[in-house]
Amino acid sequence: MSQPTRSIPLRNLEPALSWQNRERLLLAPYAMFASHSMGREHSEAQHEYRSPFQRDRDRILHSSAFRRLSGKMQVFTGDMGDYHRTRLTHTNEVSSLARTIGRTLRLNEDLIEAMALLHDIGHPPFGHCGEDALQACVKDFGGFSHNAFALELATRIEQRYTSYPGLNLTHEVLSGQQFRSDKDSGTVPMLEIQVVDSADSIAYDAHDLDDALKLGLLNWQQLSGLGLVQRVRKLAPLDQSSQNNRRQMLVHTLIDIQMDNFLQYSMGLLAEAGQLDSQAVQDVGILLQMSPEMQSDKEELEDFLFQHVYRHPKLVEVRMRAATRLNQLYRLLKAYPQRLPERFQKWCAEWGVEHTVAVYLAGMTDRFCDDQYIALVELGRDLAQDWS
Ligand code: MG
Repeated sequence: MSQPTRSIPLRNLEPALSWQNRERLLLAPYAMFASHSMGREHSEAQHEYRSPFQRDRDRILHSSAFRRLSGKMQVFTGDMGDYHRTRLTHTNEVSSLARTIGRTLRLNEDLIEAMALLHDIGHPPFGHCGEDALQACVKDFGGFSHNAFALELATRIEQRYTSYPGLNLTHEVLSGQQFRSDKDSGTVPMLEIQVVDSADSIAYDAHDLDDALKLGLLNWQQLSGLGLVQRVRKLAPLDQSSQNNRRQMLVHTLIDIQMDNFLQYSMGLLAEAGQLDSQAVQDVGILLQMSPEMQSDKEELEDFLFQHVYRHPKLVEVRMRAATRLNQLYRLLKAYPQRLPERFQKWCAEWGVEHTVAVYLAGMTDRFCDDQYIALVELGRDLAQDWS
């Protein structure tokens, strides 16, 4: 017996609650309105109560690539403990910060959320170490970047519909990601993707510092000279707190002062925008940002993290392991593409075996990559005897 369909009494919704009316009521003129969207590659009827950007957010959230972010490392690997961020929790933090900024500036929060959930979906296993390893493998075959791969996942790898590949996202969400994959294009992007980019950077600086302190890769003494930490000390009684409280106080104050500064400075820039619309603020080149003094302190923190965390011997070890495993899996699968899953074998003819193998490897979680390495490389020596 067929199930009755659930009917939602939309007739009872007040007209002011339609997404079109909500946008008209809440958004600033310079926001990207969903009603002005350039649409999708494959046209679809409007949804009754979700805007096109809300639908994009849901499609990304329900994609298999998004779920796999829970099994991909951000900076620290799963065997280092359970406290630190994964690629998924990083993404959620970025989305939260970006939505706060977007709502305060009266930008399109639904678009921001969709782009934030998409922004790191193309990360391969083992974070930036994995990305560098894949890039080295396919540098002569188009190269590999996680930003470009996110677009590829969204447009031709994820399977959601029977008549075409991909998630059929709106032009605006795809163009936001396109900007991330081609930042040297010299174009000024939509304000909403500028917000996602800034939130990404505020989130990873703060949480990488938090995780590195918790894991004992850094100590408090090393931080004392940093401009941002000195700013925090003026606002938060770090020295009177326990070790754990002190770390948490540092991180949330660090986020607060950067968010406050970004919002204050950006509001000053947007005051000039007046009644300009989304395209016009891009045309006049408005770039949302922190004050130059805060930006300079932020860059000092990033240099510090680069020297003392990302190059820490424990992470160099991770980098070497990731490079070895991905490189060997790449070479084996390139030599024996019949070991690829069926749909990837079909893509080999269309995309070339090199790119297809890179795509297959990039989709893996850290654990699956390790399992495949053991199964195909360590236990499959006979298969691989002529490539080692
Ligand atoms: Mg990110």
